[in-house]
Amino acid sequence: MEITRLPHEGYEEVYRAVDDRTGLKAFIAVHDTTLGPTLGGCRMWHYSRDEDAITDVLRLSRGMTYKSAVARTGLGGGKAVIVGDPKTQKTEQLFRSMGRFIHTLGGRYTTAEDVGTNEADMLVMREVTPYVSGLPRIKGGSGDPSPFTALGCFVGLRAAVEEAFGSDDLTGKKVAIQGVGNVGFHLGKHLAEAGAELFVTDVNAERLKEAADELGATVVDPREIYAIECDIFSPNALGAVINDRTVPQLKCKVVAGGANNQLAEVRHGEALLEKGIVYAPDFVLNAGGIINVSVEFMPGGYDEEASLKRVNNIRQAMKDIFATAKAQQIPTNRAAIVLAEKIISEGRRKRESEGAEL
Ligand code: NAD
Repeated sequence: MEITRLPHEGYEEVYRAVDDRTGLKAFIAVHDTTLGPTLGGCRMWHYSRDEDAITDVLRLSRGMTYKSAVARTGLGGGKAVIVGDPKTQKTEQLFRSMGRFIHTLGGRYTTAEDVGTNEADMLVMREVTPYVSGLPRIKGGSGDPSPFTALGCFVGLRAAVEEAFGSDDLTGKKVAIQGVGNVGFHLGKHLAEAGAELFVTDVNAERLKEAADELGATVVDPREIYAIECDIFSPNALGAVINDRTVPQLKCKVVAGGANNQLAEVRHGEALLEKGIVYAPDFVLNAGGIINVSVEFMPGGYDEEASLKRVNNIRQAMKDIFATAKAQQIPTNRAAIVLAEKIISEGRRKRESEGAEL
């Protein structure tokens, strides 16, 4: 395997690995270890150019640094991407090779599932390196993160509802859910139990019907979800769904969902604020999954009760962000970045002063 270090300003370490024997081409970015060793998923995607894979790994690893900082997981941000089609190009040799690549970083990066990878792939990598998380519960891991992500979204969404309406009571609140996959469906369950009226959409018709039946929700066409008369719009499918085309259509008072990178650009946070919509920043709201995985690293190992307690703290994190946004008169997405950077610089100062004492 040929491993090459790629210099990228603002990133501690970025590597490319090519293994002709197994067909592996992959990148790992260690963005920032100020708050601890990095953790982030391993994505497998058919990038058409290496530059696209590098852009993705850089962007995603920085996102993990911010997400973990605000969630106070004690971890830094890193990410890995494998270039390849997850439907046709997966082999055990490929993932063993990826595991060996991860191992060369000596624990500064620990991997987990992401788009295109699953528990089975994690188990193969675990054969060659201990730096793999998110393993099944029966193997001592923290298991599927989605219910924890959904719970964090639910408690954070309630804080956003309180901010917008003066009370977090969800009885009769109309919620439009885009995407009823792992996160959207579990979130829908919490919302239905709290008395919300649900409108759901998905591009997978079978999944949509099943979810709508189970949630007692009204089905909406994917193209119509943005313009629906509702109190809360909840994106749980793709990124960049809040953009120049969709913002004018929104009739809600709150945007809060589990999808990563919901704003097409940072300026769309301003656009929501101008429309009087409370935006719950995605990387704060959807941190429940990473919080759950991070509990694997606590002394004594994984503990579900400890995890649930920490995931529930997302409500307070969200309130802190709304307070910062108001005090500094900035959109909530910018306030979330301000908060993350403050936590990282405090960590850096603490580390430097500890280093100076030695
Ligand atoms: P998933 O694949 O289980 O669900 C996504 C759903 O969205 C699918 O049912 C899919 O058919 C649907 N979808 C895709 N395009 C759509 C469109 N244009 N309109 C409507 N529906 C569409 O994925 P998931 O694990 O539920 O993750 C959902 C989002 O949450 C992703 O953005 C993911 O990155 C993010 N996220 C997930 C977790 C987690 O723990 N799973 C953690 C953090 C963030």
